[in-house]
Amino acid sequence: MVTIDTSVCLVCGGCIDLCPKTAIQMVDDRVYVIQEKCIQCKICVQVCPVGAPRHIEDAA
Ligand code: SF4
Ligand code: SF4
Repeated sequence: MVTIDTSVCLVCGGCIDLCPKTAIQMVDDRVYVIQEKCIQCKICVQVCPVGAPRHIEDAA
């Protein structure tokens, strides 16, 4: 799964605009991934200037 580390996220909105599945939303100045929509493409991981989105391998 992909999650956003809100302690480093700048809330710049860059990942929101580039997510192909509109799986990233901003609520109350925090950015989070809607897991049901995310397809693990990791575009957000690549575009974020501060490395806030983290891809975590699902537990086996
Ligand atoms: S991994 Fe892809 S689908 Fe999932 S939140 Fe990031 S950009 Fe969107
Ligand atoms: S691109 Fe990175 S810093 Fe910008 S909103 Fe997304 S996670 Fe936060």
